[in-house]
Amino acid sequence: MAFKCQEDSYLTEYTSIVLKCEPTTEPIVDYGKITKFEGYKVTLENTILFPAGGGQPHDVGWLNDTEVLQVLRKGEQALHFVREPLAEGTVVNQRLHWDRRFDHMQQHSGQHLLSAILEKEHNLPTTSWWLGVDESYIELDAKEITDDVIQATEDKCNELIRKAVPVDVKFYKACDSALDQAHTRGLPEDCTDTIRIICIRKIDENMCCGTHVSNLSELQMIKLIGTEPGKKGKTNLKFLVGNRVTRTFQKMLQRERVLTGLLKNEPTRHADLIYKLQKNLKLTNKCLQSVLIDLAVYEADKIRSTVPVPKYVIMFKKEATPEFNRAILKGLEGTDMFIFLASEEPDKPNEGQIIIQGPVEHCDALGTKITDLLKGRGAFKNGRFQGKAGDLSAMSKCKRLIEDYFNNLK
Ligand SMILES: [Zn+2]
Repeated sequence: MAFKCQEDSYLTEYTSIVLKCEPTTEPIVDYGKITKFEGYKVTLENTILFPAGGGQPHDVGWLNDTEVLQVLRKGEQALHFVREPLAEGTVVNQRLHWDRRFDHMQQHSGQHLLSAILEKEHNLPTTSWWLGVDESYIELDAKEITDDVIQATEDKCNELIRKAVPVDVKFYKACDSALDQAHTRGLPEDCTDTIRIICIRKIDENMCCGTHVSNLSELQMIKLIGTEPGKKGKTNLKFLVGNRVTRTFQKMLQRERVLTGLLKNEPTRHADLIYKLQKNLKLTNKCLQSVLIDLAVYEADKIRSTVPVPKYVIMFKKEATPEFNRAILKGLEGTDMFIFLASEEPDKPNEGQIIIQGPVEHCDALGTKITDLLKGRGAFKNGRFQGKAGDLSAMSKCKRLIEDYFNNLK
């Protein structure tokens, strides 16, 4: 049996009857994203809501006012996932979320066209495909695909789109010899005795359960957007069809406008300007490091020359780098001071790095108390604690703790 959506991909409303309604805890899977679900699955006499299959995601829509979140195929039936139960025998007005469906029709028919051209003209068979939330790809049985092949394929697909080649759906009996000419990667999931063939006239005949456009002009255009390595020696060729091309182009224009505003120059100069900015930033960072180390040496000297020599040093410098801290420790080497250094992570306020170092008795008395206060993670090793602080807001408490400890020693 073919579902109503397979007979006519353009139906957006339809009346049917509830045959069965069962509770379910099966998750909702949408473009590969899995969401927990608790509700009901409804079987109807027939449906215009496409159940996921053949690489095409499920439709969403409504049964009267009840939202359908997922449609799955089970044998000859389509199961409609809803939050509230619907009584058996209820007459329901089905409505389809058309924008989502038409997008799937564009991507799916585009995939058939793309796969046909790559196989016929470049001997590159498609082994699988994926319709993603933003981008889709076909998996090709080849290690790489040249830019020339990609360009020639894109041009050919768009030429056929301009010619508005009709796309027909034909039904055959499984034993029909006419089927021998049809292209298949195995029988479609819903195949029983009737075989459904999608024909792009004189270009492709393909067994498929999906919903397709009736004419290639509805694809508007195909844009191939690059390749990436696929599974075991295969290549994924990414593509956009129709409204996704214009939507993606719009997003790119918006990003470009933001960059033009920030860089205060035309788009053709963007890459060059960013390269220069990165180079300057590297140089500036190098200078800053050198200044910070000079400052650390100066600070350490100042502490050493204080009279009387302090018993402890507390230094919380938000912007201190590991190099700065190392220079402080080096500058105070050989002294008997208890040293506590803290700095903040650049993009995580209240989190940072801490170093505790000094005579064993002081470290024993203060170490764990400080790390507990600061939610520190790390361990004492060779008389030094070096680790992360999870909460620097307790810095003033630490300061008081250390001051009280040394005041009480006097
Ligand atoms: Zn298909």
